[in-house]
Amino acid sequence: MVHLTIDIGGKPGKDCRGFCSYCYFKHAKDVPPFGCKYCMPFKKGCDYCTRGVKEEYTGFYSLEEVADHFLADLQMVTGDITKITISGGGDPSCYPEFTSLIGILGSLNVPLHIGYTSGKGFDDPGIADFLIENHLTEVSFTVFASDPVLREKYMHDPTPDASLSIIERLAAHIDVYAALVILPDVNDGEVLWNTLAWLEKIGVKGVILMRFANRENQGLILDNAPVIENQRVHTVTEFRELVSDAAARFPALRLSATPLYDPAFDSPFAIRNEPDILAHLPKITGRVSVITSSIAAPYLTEILAKCGAPEGMVVPVDKEIACLITIDDLKKLDASALEETVIIPGRAFVHDPEAESVLGRMVIRGPETLSADGETSMGMDLTGVLTMELEGFTALIQLINQYGRK
Ligand code: SF4
Repeated sequence: MVHLTIDIGGKPGKDCRGFCSYCYFKHAKDVPPFGCKYCMPFKKGCDYCTRGVKEEYTGFYSLEEVADHFLADLQMVTGDITKITISGGGDPSCYPEFTSLIGILGSLNVPLHIGYTSGKGFDDPGIADFLIENHLTEVSFTVFASDPVLREKYMHDPTPDASLSIIERLAAHIDVYAALVILPDVNDGEVLWNTLAWLEKIGVKGVILMRFANRENQGLILDNAPVIENQRVHTVTEFRELVSDAAARFPALRLSATPLYDPAFDSPFAIRNEPDILAHLPKITGRVSVITSSIAAPYLTEILAKCGAPEGMVVPVDKEIACLITIDDLKKLDASALEETVIIPGRAFVHDPEAESVLGRMVIRGPETLSADGETSMGMDLTGVLTMELEGFTALIQLINQYGRK
């Protein structure tokens, strides 16, 4: 199984025929590096947390550059290539040499995936047949709404009818995953039910609903809030209810959501419903403070309590997404109330020495992930999700027991 990724570069928004109104890159500033798990202890800021997180490309790579990178990767490969994924910072549908690139890749007779496209660069419905002929087998396509007027207005798609027709043609032949950022009072309610009915009718493989974020504590860490001035945002509870309602109305549709939740598995943190699996987790024997997001905290509290955690072990910060916790979130905590050892989320955007100096505590980085979010679980089965959670929580409890006060 050899899976190659083709990086076409491109800047979000700039190489997307302009910004979608809800794009979180729209007001992204050139903020200083956050620090992260990849940084060296003596230097805050590495390539990932300085550039990677902002998808900081100067523009699309030329076809020649893409081909050169691809050939270099190809030389490292042993065995047959089983899948090629096209990805980048810009939108593949807006790549100026898109048809030439697909033609070249198509001649390799390997299944092609497009990691993400808005389709805003496609003006001719015939591109769908061209893609199918060239072995495109899977695509994640931003839909927003099946109403072309809304698509034009909020995504700034100059040819919304063509894009919708392409989605329809592709869905009849290959695996199409439809992504919808949900703006309250814009594409929720009746608009959403109409869109889901259409997606069900045309036969998409899955639908991912994404809660719109508009504030720093919802994850806008690039000094880019608000994305839309005065736009209402769903609370986590409202959004969860919307997802439940959608799943109940369209039971035949594989539907999942981020940050919460996947109704097929009641994930993330589906393990809390599985006493037999929880019984396999180690017992907690140490005392630490486990820092996490405000959304994850109640789940972690419930699961760790079942493993013997004392009250107060889980400490939420005022950030809804754990992977987007920064040093500013840690600064707002009452450090005196924390244990001598603090475990932070594995992917937090924090430089460990700075976290230690801010908290005055020993800081340990926790496991990479404790569950699968809706985007990830969409492609998994329940066993896969539970295995991931069992591994994540086992690793977390081992750290608690290894570093915690007895
Ligand atoms: S297509 Fe995606 S990356 Fe491009 S502007 Fe729209 S939301 Fe942003």
